[in-house]
Amino acid sequence: MAKTIQAIRGMNDCLPEQTGMWQYVEGVIRQTVAQYGYQEIRMPIVESTDLFKRSIGEVTDIVEKEMYTFADRNGDSLTLRPEGTASAVRAGNQHGLIYNQQQRLWYMGPMFRHERPQKGRYRQFHQFGVETYGLAGPDIDAEVIALSARLWKAFGISDVVRLELNSLGSNEARAAYKVKLVEFLTAHEDQLDEDSKRRMHTNPLRVLDSKDPSVQALVANAPKLADHLDTASATHFAQLCERLDQLGISYVVNDKLVRGLDYYNATVFEWVTDTLGAQGTICAGGRYDGLVEQLGGKASPAVGFAMGLERLVLMLKELGLTEQVAAPVDVYITALSEDAVVYAHTTAELLRDTTALRVQMHCGGGNMKKQIKRCDNSGAQVALLIGADEVASQHVTIKNMRGTDGLSTVSLSELPGALNALFNDE
Ligand code: ATP
Ligand code: MG
Repeated sequence: MAKTIQAIRGMNDCLPEQTGMWQYVEGVIRQTVAQYGYQEIRMPIVESTDLFKRSIGEVTDIVEKEMYTFADRNGDSLTLRPEGTASAVRAGNQHGLIYNQQQRLWYMGPMFRHERPQKGRYRQFHQFGVETYGLAGPDIDAEVIALSARLWKAFGISDVVRLELNSLGSNEARAAYKVKLVEFLTAHEDQLDEDSKRRMHTNPLRVLDSKDPSVQALVANAPKLADHLDTASATHFAQLCERLDQLGISYVVNDKLVRGLDYYNATVFEWVTDTLGAQGTICAGGRYDGLVEQLGGKASPAVGFAMGLERLVLMLKELGLTEQVAAPVDVYITALSEDAVVYAHTTAELLRDTTALRVQMHCGGGNMKKQIKRCDNSGAQVALLIGADEVASQHVTIKNMRGTDGLSTVSLSELPGALNALFNDE
């Protein structure tokens, strides 16, 4: 027998038994962004490699070791997108969406990073993100955070996520702070792990969020970014905190939160959970006021976030919050004798014409027991029993598979109303 081909490690199929969950999650997201008047943008999955190098930064984990980069047939270097922000800015600049305008955009789709696959970390994963342009004040920061908070509420997980917040200040303030930080780290170099020693020279802020316990203990005494903020960023941050207080959104200020991508300034935030083990960040974002100009557009303020959908789905499953996921079928139509098949089929089409119910028709014959078993497996709440008697009288027998109310027989013209009543009674 030929050897079967497997999917690429870290790239998962989403099987039919899981797609209901994903459609539910995506549906809640679509509804929520609509509530805020955000518009969808769809970007290509492949972009030129330079886009990510110039935006995310050459000395970040993503660009240094996680990108799927390959030569196109004509030799151009292309990359499977590792995130959405760079593409959104590229598209916005290219099509004139950003300059002199305000935009509130969202996207959803697959991202690719060559990381070690583990729970909550995959090589193809999915993000939902929002990106806003042309809005400089803390009110829009608060709005995107409120949007994310509303999602947690809709999913019923507000109690198990917490918002961590920080300000990175302006580029100038951060550059001045970096000098002080590097001085401090140099003086204590012997206490740094290899990773931090390297990062101290390439991307010193990342040492602040090192996972190494002794490095963590050391940087607890390092100069604080919060003490080196420029006045504008400090005011912006204070106003954001105040707005979140007014909206009743709780947060903790985490002065070690720096994010792994170079383009952030001022506000950064993460939504974190303890229910997923090491992969605890389910949503991360912040301001990136310099990126539009850096990628060739006219300068524009920007703020956004990205949410890891696999982590969200994992969380909902682990917390048992799956009752909102609908079974794929509402009504299962049996055909209990040879001469009932056509009548059953026209009844199925009639229901599709006249109701919004999800109707599955039994195919392939078999006795009543077999057909009811199929009905059970389909998850349908209602079976329509159609046999020779029903054909003769042009009626249909309704069997509620979940309730105890027995059988009822209705005419074809009464059927849509009877079923709608049954489902709306839920
Ligand atoms: P982490 O620290 O977990 O590596 P990150 O800082 O690299 O996250 P971002 O680039 O900010 O992550 O992406 C935003 C969100 O996308 C993350 O908070 C996470 O929920 C999700 N995410 C990132 N990388 C992966 C991955 N390899 N697999 C699944 N989800 C991911
Ligand atoms: Mg990462």
